[in-house]
Amino acid sequence: MVSKESSKDKAIVIVVSPLNALIDDQINKLNALGVCCASLRLCGGEADGRFEGSFQENLQTGNFQLIFTHPDVAVNNRHCRELFLLNYSQRNVVVVVVDEAHCIIEWGHDFRPDYGKLGTLSSVFPSAKIVAMTATATREYQRAITENLNMKNPSPVIANPDRANICYEVIQRPSYVKQGNVDQFEELLCPIAEEIITTTVRIPLTIIYSSLELCGVGFAFLERVLGDKQFYPMDAPKPHQNRLFAQFHSPQTDKMKSEIISRIVTESCTQRVIFATLAFGMGIDSPYVERVIHFGVPRTMESFFQESGRAGRDGRPDKSTLYFNNNDIGANVEGMQPIMREYCKNPKSECRRKIILKHFGFRIPNVQEQSNSFCDLCEKSCLSEFCDDTVDPDHSKVTANLAVSENQVQGIKSKLIGLKAETEANYFHLSMCSGLTMEGIDELCLTLSKAKTLDKILESVQIWRKEHAEQILKIIHNVTSRESSE
Ligand SMILES: [Zn+2]
Repeated sequence: MVSKESSKDKAIVIVVSPLNALIDDQINKLNALGVCCASLRLCGGEADGRFEGSFQENLQTGNFQLIFTHPDVAVNNRHCRELFLLNYSQRNVVVVVVDEAHCIIEWGHDFRPDYGKLGTLSSVFPSAKIVAMTATATREYQRAITENLNMKNPSPVIANPDRANICYEVIQRPSYVKQGNVDQFEELLCPIAEEIITTTVRIPLTIIYSSLELCGVGFAFLERVLGDKQFYPMDAPKPHQNRLFAQFHSPQTDKMKSEIISRIVTESCTQRVIFATLAFGMGIDSPYVERVIHFGVPRTMESFFQESGRAGRDGRPDKSTLYFNNNDIGANVEGMQPIMREYCKNPKSECRRKIILKHFGFRIPNVQEQSNSFCDLCEKSCLSEFCDDTVDPDHSKVTANLAVSENQVQGIKSKLIGLKAETEANYFHLSMCSGLTMEGIDELCLTLSKAKTLDKILESVQIWRKEHAEQILKIIHNVTSRESSE
């Protein structure tokens, strides 16, 4: 890159990027490093919209080293095309970068068609190098991207996308309950609300991906149960910056989205839980995100990997948890990649990291670096081998024949009722928060002989949180083993 002072004619790099929020974040970082950049953004909005009057002058006096723009602007806007065809631009634009190039395939034919037309830039700048960048491209995608951009003799630079510090976890929830997704989503949020109360700004920065509708549900739920405690500090004036949670989705204005992005890249960010749709995926680069939760299943492994990859960008161990039910991955869900069904159902109990990397044509690197925190299944097998816990996570040890006496049934029932009350007391006295209903307890007591493992418990009652199943299993185990040893 040529420094600002050295000459009038300077190399210019054009970067095509999908989101304004992303562009703003990158420009801020580059400006801080002393790189002069600008974004070609429309004042009018439409294809004929204009740019700020001083843009061309700044461009021709060599004030820009990097120019960020949108695919829509780069491809369709007449004034943009005029700027690109200026002698100055033709002489000085040396590289055109297409960032998040997987959008060419994923969005190109769909709701962002202009990504698919970026190949025309190779004829606008015939002597510039074209660079396509993405963190998620299978071999097939790579071929399609280079073809689409008219790249001749491309030199691929490929690295294993493995994210060794993220532990992947998948939790199945029941397919049907009364209020369906809303109830289950609120149940999931109960412990998070509790965490916000006890830890306020020290709660791990968490992104919760869901549908647009559930973003609103989650936001309203936390507002409702937290009351005054939703702000930090509690006695602060109460604009949205002081709220401990936020939403990020496409119906919001660019300004709101940019605000969230600029906050979550700072360590002191007050907004600790972000409800987000897939709009909050690509390129959001905060070292402070520690936890990503998916409620529902992204349709492509590329999206899932992008979104879960928002965690752990500082290299510390972080977690990705995906909650799904059979409806989420049903045959009628349009565009759901088979690999996502495999990732959720995992019929061969394969390491989840392995499944992800296999999709991108890679393997888990270097055996020596392997740990047991790759995924929930690896953790399980570690525990079952080395740990002596009363509740065997691999379920293999708790296989004693549960011939349960009537006394024991009553003992178990009263303990379960106690567990229900105790959990609900912890969580705002909301019955959904224990994951246990009286009907569920009755049902379980009728089928105790089958309740030998976590999986069986999760199957037989409408609870879906593993720690609840563990508590129930522990109660059953304790009551039955006590009486038989007496
Ligand atoms: Zn694993």
